[in-house]
Amino acid sequence: MSKPDGIYWDKRSEVMSRDELEALQVRRLKETIGQATKSEFYSKLFQEHGINPDSINDISDIRKLPFTTKDDLRKEFPYGMLCVPKEETVRLHTSSGTTGQATVIFHTRKDLDQWAELIARCMYMVGVRKEDVFQNMTGYGLFTGGLGFHYGAEKLGALTIPAGAGNSKRQIQLMQQFGTTVLHIIPSYALRLMNILSDQGIDPRKDLDLRIAFLGAEPYTEEIRQRVENYYGIDAFNSYGLSEMNGPGVAFECPEKKGLHIWEDCYVVEIVNPDTLEPVEIGEVGELVMTTLTREAMPLIRYRTKDLTRFLPGECSCGRVHRRIDWIQGRSDDMIIIKGVNIFPMQVEQVLMGMPEVGNNYVIILEKENEIDQIRVQVEVHESIFQEDMRYLNRLREKIVRELKSEILVTPRVDLVESRSLPQSDGKAVRLIDRR
Ligand code: ADP
Ligand code: ZN
Repeated sequence: MSKPDGIYWDKRSEVMSRDELEALQVRRLKETIGQATKSEFYSKLFQEHGINPDSINDISDIRKLPFTTKDDLRKEFPYGMLCVPKEETVRLHTSSGTTGQATVIFHTRKDLDQWAELIARCMYMVGVRKEDVFQNMTGYGLFTGGLGFHYGAEKLGALTIPAGAGNSKRQIQLMQQFGTTVLHIIPSYALRLMNILSDQGIDPRKDLDLRIAFLGAEPYTEEIRQRVENYYGIDAFNSYGLSEMNGPGVAFECPEKKGLHIWEDCYVVEIVNPDTLEPVEIGEVGELVMTTLTREAMPLIRYRTKDLTRFLPGECSCGRVHRRIDWIQGRSDDMIIIKGVNIFPMQVEQVLMGMPEVGNNYVIILEKENEIDQIRVQVEVHESIFQEDMRYLNRLREKIVRELKSEILVTPRVDLVESRSLPQSDGKAVRLIDRR
């Protein structure tokens, strides 16, 4: 069990030289290749590519290894990638299936322990301590956000409230009754909860003890972080993960809030051009590719996450050796092509959430009109604004169209709708509806 040392949960793993880190990665990568070979899938794949642990002498040798894709996981469902006898596994998680058939990841007891360590490391990094009361407001069950954070917080020693998703009134009650100081919450839900707090006349800055929130599990923008921080009077940190790499705990912001440290003692991290699969330059956006370094039940080699981001240059002043990635722009499959122009939903969000008149929800609809693709954006506006006269609303609508156009380069249709009229979900927000 690691002992916290000052600002670090596990200083030995967080602070070391680049050379030491790479030596550790090489050693663990060799072990991982050995372990992966115990599955049917990798034993065949490695044989085809002539790969064995001795293929790796330097961390850049990872490029000799083949990629693994989500399709591979689907094809091998359920046991084709399992590397331990089934009786050694103690839990499974499936992805939420946002983009198709679910995939499964198995864990041994050691895998779960390691995962909890990473979460504890993330939480400790931004100042959570055993004196804190942690309310975990994401779904428990197959979704990794619930149990993932839960065991990490317990490992750290914080009083953990397994609140789960939804049931806002109960969430608020729990915060009041137990003096919750730290939240784990999906950003779209954090926005929605603002409406309910306001209805109840609760001002979180005065009436609650909140000081920190972890916001993650779906793409969002700095503008939303700002809204959440200002409304709740807290520090909010971006938390990134995916079930294939355990779940949360993969990459996390430190107190500097300048990108997310991605834990390179547990993962080899690459960013590649999604077309050529060659590494991109530092600072250039590409697809995040990850290899597990400590997993027993189901190691994954060069897994293509489809998430788009970039390495941030330079070292972080917090002293951690692990490189930082920028906020995730979205998944490569989220890219919308309208009239030959590439658009990411996050560009729309950035514009909308930067405008004070705009409320806390929006949705992007793709539709066809006379065989031409159109983009329609439905935007909730604050109640007080909705009461204004037609002329004011028209001017606001035109302003939103203009600002969106200058960001996404095509002219969207914009509908202003009343606060809370757009569909909501307790889990990840559905921001894009394709009606074409
Ligand atoms: P599914 O892929 O079915 O949604 P997961 O729960 O494993 O299942 O979701 C992981 C995905 O969620 C990531 O690959 C990424 O696209 C998105 N995600 C998670 N955390 C963040 C974050 N902080 N910022 C942006 N996207 C995120
Ligand atoms: Zn840092």
